[in-house]
Amino acid sequence: MADPQLLSKVRALIGRQYGRVNAWDEVNAPMIRHWCEVIGLDNPLYTDPVAAAGSCNDGIVAPPPMLQIWCMEGFHINNYAPGSTTDNPYEVLGLIESYGYPSVVAVNSELTFERNLRLGEKLYYTTRLESVGDEKTTGLGTGFFVTLIMEYFAQHTSGDEKVGELLFRVFKFRAANVHAAQAQVVSEPVQAKRPAPGVSDDTRYFWEGCEQGQLLIQRCTQCATLRHPPAPVCTACHSFDWDTLQASGKGQLYSFVVMHYPQVAPFDHPNPIGLIELDEGVRLIAGLVGVTREQLQIGQRVQVEFQTFDDNLALPLFRPLAE
Ligand code: ZN
Repeated sequence: MADPQLLSKVRALIGRQYGRVNAWDEVNAPMIRHWCEVIGLDNPLYTDPVAAAGSCNDGIVAPPPMLQIWCMEGFHINNYAPGSTTDNPYEVLGLIESYGYPSVVAVNSELTFERNLRLGEKLYYTTRLESVGDEKTTGLGTGFFVTLIMEYFAQHTSGDEKVGELLFRVFKFRAANVHAAQAQVVSEPVQAKRPAPGVSDDTRYFWEGCEQGQLLIQRCTQCATLRHPPAPVCTACHSFDWDTLQASGKGQLYSFVVMHYPQVAPFDHPNPIGLIELDEGVRLIAGLVGVTREQLQIGQRVQVEFQTFDDNLALPLFRPLAE
């Protein structure tokens, strides 16, 4: 049962309106062009002034999903545009957390658009705490669904106009096994474990393969196209039918990063992580072992090996092959 004091404090916050976060920049063509390039949108109505001029929009408009982008704070945390307020629209999460619900997971978000945005428009948004549900228990644990609504406005001299809104819902909860975990802390220090993969019907074959020391790659049984990471449908022929191919485990280092900071247990640091192009043609991301940063080279040959962590988690790792 949730603490009645928490419930009354939460109720008092519902409907509260927070701030105003201003956009740094007007809706502008360079940001639209960069965004379309990154996302892979090639609709000329967003980027080609000539094509856009002949459209019903009578000029370039921003892709609707960019709505959130215009008012983002920038690369530095809390670096909001001048005139923005500093009140915290997430204060209810802090309140719930202070009553012993430390975890949070985003549940869903919905964007609603009223109209297209044109070049030169300046936006801002406000946030409203829409609702906090009754205490619920899910597979993750026990807590509250919190719904926030950000309303976006275009500024006009004649008065501001709502152009869209974003519904953002999170689950603020106490993990299902938190009492057991806390009890353990008292008796003996808990060793940090490797994060376990989220296993679904689409991915189970891969992890079971690892347990058997096999690197299995999904293969479309209609057109034989290999795919990784696992997915329910073939992107080449759209078939749902698939089996697996046991990969040789050999490939080359296509790219890599070396994680220095933050140092997260239980990983060793620096922590080299590779994007491996298997000889079969698909790529996968995996930890690299037996190699230092200085020895890593794009294109070097690597070979899979399997290691078991925390007694039951078999993971594929790649080690450079001797020249
Ligand atoms: Zn196929």
